Amino acid sequence: MSKISYVVPIYNEEENIPKLVQEILAVAPDISDDYEIFLVDDCSTDKGLELIRNLAEQNQKIRPLALARNSGQSAALSAGFQAATGEVIITMDADLQNDPADLRQMINHYGDYDMVNGWRFDRQDTLSKKIASKIGNGFRNWITKETIHDTGCSLKIMNAAILKRIHIYKGLHRFLPTLMRMEGARIIEVKVNHRQRQFGESKYTNWRRGVEGFYDVIAVRWMQQRYLKIEVKEEQL
Ligand code: UDP
Ligand code: MG
Repeated sequence: MSKISYVVPIYNEEENIPKLVQEILAVAPDISDDYEIFLVDDCSTDKGLELIRNLAEQNQKIRPLALARNSGQSAALSAGFQAATGEVIITMDADLQNDPADLRQMINHYGDYDMVNGWRFDRQDTLSKKIASKIGNGFRNWITKETIHDTGCSLKIMNAAILKRIHIYKGLHRFLPTLMRMEGARIIEVKVNHRQRQFGESKYTNWRRGVEGFYDVIAVRWMQQRYLKIEVKEEQL
């Protein structure tokens, strides 16, 4: 199996970090013995970075990456993608809502597909968030002519070479399946477990997510329509 780079964006998740790392370390050897874990600190104001540094001292697979200022989830992910040395990149949230154990079944689809996207079919979130997410996914699918149930699920396995071709802008982490598809990726959705957030709090309000998402979906539609599919017929080198 290829080398895996785990990339986790982290902003004020100090209570979640020890268990998160424990859960990733428990599943990682079943996916591949060759791996690295990028814990990307998005300039947390809690003790998160200190914790990450301590964990990295105990385990060489853990690679701290700290942003100079709070730059948002997309930026934290993008920094991790650029630093990743694996052929496969796996992402998840730091809040323990995703269950890394799901990777054991998700990885079975990798190879036949270039992207395996989690689908939180039984979401453990507030009703308002579930409704907002349904509307968000529906709107995104309608405008981008997609059929993805859950673009917002952070648990994803992706081909690193394809992913690295995408220039990630703020907010675009919500459109990774569409952006990967534009680059030619074959995508499958796999139902995954979803847990309630026990510690820390969500960094978004439904309103903020909605407004940003509305603006971003127009940009992504534009990108789809303007995508250059160039086929060279003849070339003299
Ligand atoms: N996050 C981040 N920077 C931010 C906001 C969020 O790195 O400015 C991280 C956060 O710590 C978490 C992930 O991005 O690991 C998703 O955030 P959150 O769980 O708050 O979003 P939700 O799941 O509620 O949509
Ligand atoms: Mg979350």
